[in-house]
Amino acid sequence: MKLITSMEALKSELQLTEQELCWKEDGLTVPLSITDYYFNLIDKDDPNDPLRKQVVPSVLENNAEVYEDMDPLEEVKHSITSRLVHRYENRVAFLVTDICPMYCRHCFRRRFTGNMVGPATENQIIEAAKYVGSHPKIKEILLTGGDVLTLSNNQIDFLLKTFREYQPKLLIRLCTRYLTSYPDRIDEELISILRKYDTAPIFIMVQFNHPKELTDKSKAAIKKLTDAGFFIFDQTVLLKGVNDDPKILSVLFEELLLLKVKPYYLFQGDLVSGTSHFRVPLQEGLKIYKEVANTVSGLALPTYALDLPHGAGKASLGTASITETPNYFIITSPEGNTVSYPKQ
Ligand SMILES: *Cc1c(COP(=O)(O)O)cnc(C)c1O
Ligand code: SF4
Repeated sequence: MKLITSMEALKSELQLTEQELCWKEDGLTVPLSITDYYFNLIDKDDPNDPLRKQVVPSVLENNAEVYEDMDPLEEVKHSITSRLVHRYENRVAFLVTDICPMYCRHCFRRRFTGNMVGPATENQIIEAAKYVGSHPKIKEILLTGGDVLTLSNNQIDFLLKTFREYQPKLLIRLCTRYLTSYPDRIDEELISILRKYDTAPIFIMVQFNHPKELTDKSKAAIKKLTDAGFFIFDQTVLLKGVNDDPKILSVLFEELLLLKVKPYYLFQGDLVSGTSHFRVPLQEGLKIYKEVANTVSGLALPTYALDLPHGAGKASLGTASITETPNYFIITSPEGNTVSYPKQ
């Protein structure tokens, strides 16, 4: 795997637009890194290519809106250790590493992602596993980051072994974008490690945002996992200029379903600093979702969800109570709190 990680290298391969050229790496952005595999899928003649938008930085990221925040989900406040987020009683998220092979320009966890801290130490993993083991109400763990599959197969073995040891029935969700960014990572050794710990479910959580990402290589990697008996769930992010079109989303969800990948969430953009150019206005998102719902089967339809600002939890936008003020939508959280979301 080769990576493009500098503007010089990027400039030599792609004619950059003014907005792309003016990008500066600052506290609001994630690093530049694009895998050669994904870069080759980009149509170099189209400055609006939907894959290019997801990985080539833009100066628009250097701008934060007043209503944006580096941590709108208030994960830090809900953290037990520096890497274990306990926001919901029955499930936790463990931030295995902050590193990804390729950084998504829309990444919502940019307070953490790409700081080059690296993977959790064995002690940090044991500490988190002990916490989970001593809280029997916790039934699920999300192993996330960063991208979990940046770890070596040996490290992944240790990670799964440790959580299984302290809580044998724990449902594990392994979150990765490798099936999109570098599908060859799904090798036989990895599959055999996953199978070893499949004594309780291990679900693979992926992120496909556009049908162009479903290449033969992606499909082959998906098939390796489903043939080995793993369930795969897709979490698509609704992104302006990438997939804010009911036709594109319908094709994506139908194709995923045929590959035995269940479209799980369609995420409305979080209010994360430096991502406003990706955010689809909520009223438009609702319209798009309705059209998708009228097109695809129930199985192919994900839940349209939003992580409410101020850590108010996930809301299902298709069913949530939403009212309006001149500049804001007022959304009622599942826990009964009301939060505002800008209309833009
Ligand atoms: C989204 C999320 C979960 C998982 O929620 P589901 O709705 O069950 O997918 C768990 N913990 C945190 C902190 C989350 O943000
Ligand atoms: S793969 Fe996930 S954690 Fe990594 S940059 Fe993309 S959205 Fe962020």
